[in-house]
Amino acid sequence: MSYALLCLAVFAATYMLNIFYVTVLYHRGLTHGAVELHPFTRWLVVHTGNWVTGLDPKGWSAMHRAHHVHSDTELDPHSPRFHSVPALMLVQLRSYNRMLKRLITGDAEANRSVRDLNFDVSWLNRHGLWALPYLLHAGIALALGIVGGWWLLGAAYWLGMMTHPVQGWMVNAFAHKYGGRNFETPDDSRNNTAVAWLVFGEGYQNNHHHSPRSANFAMRSGEVDLGYGLCLLAQKLGAVRVIPLPADASTIGEPYSPTAQ
Ligand SMILES: [Zn+2]
Ligand SMILES: [Zn+2]
Repeated sequence: MSYALLCLAVFAATYMLNIFYVTVLYHRGLTHGAVELHPFTRWLVVHTGNWVTGLDPKGWSAMHRAHHVHSDTELDPHSPRFHSVPALMLVQLRSYNRMLKRLITGDAEANRSVRDLNFDVSWLNRHGLWALPYLLHAGIALALGIVGGWWLLGAAYWLGMMTHPVQGWMVNAFAHKYGGRNFETPDDSRNNTAVAWLVFGEGYQNNHHHSPRSANFAMRSGEVDLGYGLCLLAQKLGAVRVIPLPADASTIGEPYSPTAQ
């Protein structure tokens, strides 16, 4: 394999590692219960999630549940109805930090929203060490350059590992503003095909807001949810179990599993 191809492969692998953690484990797993995590997978996500993605699994879930409850109202942590598309990058970061603070300081409403997640906010965040994962990834990238002279490889690794804010921003900004709608949901959610391809199904926000407990975000012919493909692959490996949709259609619109309520 040529060096350039290797760099591309490393970028793709680190990009997809972040996608896997956030869309399969954090989002469809912890937040919505659309896939059930094997106890080892759950242990893995609780102990390594923050190190891999830089995002706290509990903090992310709490913010995302708030997004579903308050979609596109002034209480939504990141609605493009109230902020410009570029500004949303900073808005989502500030909302995430605010939610983390609320969880850590014992805010009753915030903690109630994730009371089914029986693990604490990562010790990194409880001790103000949120930057450590970022420094670790920067250190690995620098080491590749300094030790081996593989600067491009280091850059590919670092850029791939740092893509999660961009992935989140594309979903939050574009898939609540541009695209078609299959369902009349009370929010501005859209199905944005480009974002769905780039962020493995997450661009189908309109489908997802209509049926948050569905592990598959693709609902009409022609829609492809690569994230659901990852769920099925992980299921084959025994890491997760895709939960069938509840028979009672009236519960289909609930943002997360009943144990959370
Ligand atoms: Zn949404
Ligand atoms: Zn969701």
